[in-house]
Amino acid sequence: MRKTVIAGNWKMNKVLSEADQFMEEITGKITNNDNTEAIVCAPFPFLPSLVEKAKRSNVKVGAQNMHYEEDGAFTGEVSPVMLNDLGVTHVVLGHSERREYFAETDETVNKKTHAAFQHDLIPIVCVGETLEQRENNETMDHVKNQVQKALAGLTNDQVEQTMIAYEPIWAIGTGKTATSDQANEVCSHIRKVIGELTSTDVAENVVIQYGGSVKPANIDELLAKSDIDGALVGGASLEANSFLQLVEAGTK
Ligand code: PGA
Repeated sequence: MRKTVIAGNWKMNKVLSEADQFMEEITGKITNNDNTEAIVCAPFPFLPSLVEKAKRSNVKVGAQNMHYEEDGAFTGEVSPVMLNDLGVTHVVLGHSERREYFAETDETVNKKTHAAFQHDLIPIVCVGETLEQRENNETMDHVKNQVQKALAGLTNDQVEQTMIAYEPIWAIGTGKTATSDQANEVCSHIRKVIGELTSTDVAENVVIQYGGSVKPANIDELLAKSDIDGALVGGASLEANSFLQLVEAGTK
């Protein structure tokens, strides 16, 4: 059985004292449960402190991006070696905001996915269509292409450990959630694409999250769907209380 993974994506929010406060507020409130995983993906400056504090709670700490090289002359970048050394366990790759504003491409996402596995980091690979692509009936082809390119060259074992976050761009931060049926339709398509790349057994074990205006009020309906195994949550992950409600929904 696949576990349910609730990952908060704080984006570029909070200062260190607020990040620490969040951790204090969730400490002791997430029960250890083999079927559910809670992750907070935070800005780089908070990571050492959050990793330290997370030792006292059942939450993992992830980054929101990284470079694919181990080190070198890449001013302003953070490497997978650095993240691993800090005790970070997950990394969000190819978020639509990085694709849109920071020239992330399918090729760099693929390099980063490989680099993540080389350094014991679990990648959370984001894919999703624009409103225009949805209206032109290009969603399935576009998402298939993104998944195939992101996972190219990985072993079946690595694909099995990769998490995919399906995030329709038109639903991110807009308050417009895809209906649970729309979300599930694409998540099951992604599973089929992964099955073609690897095997149905591997695809059955891959965690596929939905993301885009997920909140406590709509999480139950999304998680009830056959192919939605969790959520990547922006706005509603910033408050400890709301994050805890989302994680709680994942344990049901
Ligand atoms: P949102 O963001 O929950 O604020 O829509 C989701 C994301 O971008 O990961």
